[in-house]
Amino acid sequence: MFAKIRNRLTLRYAMVMMLLMMAVIITSSGGLLWILYQEERQDLRSFTEEEAREQAGMYKEKTGFFQLSPKETEDLDHGAKIFYYVFDTDSQLAASEEPSYVIRDGVLRLIHNWDAADGEVKLKKFRLPNGDRAVVMLCSMKIYNGSQVLGTVFVGEDISSYYQMLKMLLIMMVILSLVFLIIAAFAGHLLAGTAMIPIKQAFSRQREFVADASHELRTPLSVLQLSAEAVQNDNDQKLSPFSTQVLDDMNSEIRRMTRLINDLLTLARADAGATNIIKEKFDLVAMAKPLVRSIQPLAVVKRLKLAMSGDETLPITADRERISQLLLILIDNAIKYTPAGGKVDVLLTRTATPKPSVTIAVSDTGEGISEKERKLIFERFYRIDKARSREEGGTGLGLSIAKWIVDVHGGKIKVESTPGKGSSFIVILPQ
Ligand code: ADP
Repeated sequence: MFAKIRNRLTLRYAMVMMLLMMAVIITSSGGLLWILYQEERQDLRSFTEEEAREQAGMYKEKTGFFQLSPKETEDLDHGAKIFYYVFDTDSQLAASEEPSYVIRDGVLRLIHNWDAADGEVKLKKFRLPNGDRAVVMLCSMKIYNGSQVLGTVFVGEDISSYYQMLKMLLIMMVILSLVFLIIAAFAGHLLAGTAMIPIKQAFSRQREFVADASHELRTPLSVLQLSAEAVQNDNDQKLSPFSTQVLDDMNSEIRRMTRLINDLLTLARADAGATNIIKEKFDLVAMAKPLVRSIQPLAVVKRLKLAMSGDETLPITADRERISQLLLILIDNAIKYTPAGGKVDVLLTRTATPKPSVTIAVSDTGEGISEKERKLIFERFYRIDKARSREEGGTGLGLSIAKWIVDVHGGKIKVESTPGKGSSFIVILPQ
């Protein structure tokens, strides 16, 4: 139980850490990207404005746009980081300072397909023939001579290397976060373990208290029961009908309390790990037959049909006492919660797959259990109808004990039920 809580705490802690880290990564890298983008955008715009002004001035002086000399263009074999293309009003390329030849074609294609507004800035990504990704930022601006439009200048910046760098940075941050997450989960596991120590101690003291109290109560209760029975059986003493009734009630309450104390003690010992499970090989059918026979009178009193069927023999290695207690709990419940005229069937069978196991199914035609309650009935002291359970002599601990017995044998218990029609408790035990 504690290991489960510890793991759950660790998981929650790791999830919170992961969310925090994701928030930090998203806000910091998003913020950084946004600032860089805005700055670049602003720079490129100013640069384009300047270029447009220069080209306009050049045009007026020489009646033509400014073009680098062929020599200068050759020197720029690898292209400029910031490049430009000037188009005249007939969309003919009039002047340029070109980017790296690797991205030239891509950039020209982008410009041709871009129906740009005056002063618009755009970030564009495209694939290069070698499969790499190129990222450019482009700004378009009209070149004016007074109110006359002379052409359009496109200024661009090749920011592929920045893009690659940011991508690497992001990948690094994600990897680092994952490493920190693993460290945080590990630290969380250790911290959760430390926090559990006082809880474990308090729980263990509580468990010891229940075990000791139940154990101590057993002796006075047996003395009380024996005394009450002695008075009842004392033929010399004439008891009034009232006293007889009081003694009967007292006896039945003492029996109930003894059962409750025994159940509490079983669970307290189970919690403490003192399970005392002694496994031996025996025939389940041979053990169940006399047990069912001994409960038959109870069924007769309630006018129920109690029957057992299934395999002829079922060898099993288990704790005989506990398995018999398990059967008793299930059959007793079926009888308790089935109205007169109903039927209780005990079916014992063998299953070969997925591994050799024994199935115990106790079915009744009783009131049934709703889906919501099917999950709760195995909890301690959970009773669907408290008054009803009390009236039937129940303690609310039967199914918790049944589940514990099944668990310590490495088996499984489940309940299938149709409210109003009946329930089936199915136990699968490894053979
Ligand atoms: P109890 O001592 O009250 O019977 P259990 O732990 O054995 O306690 O069962 C828990 C509750 O589950 C019962 O109070 C009852 O409401 C419900 N229950 C158990 N078995 C059956 C059954 N065969 N049919 C209907 N309800 C059942």
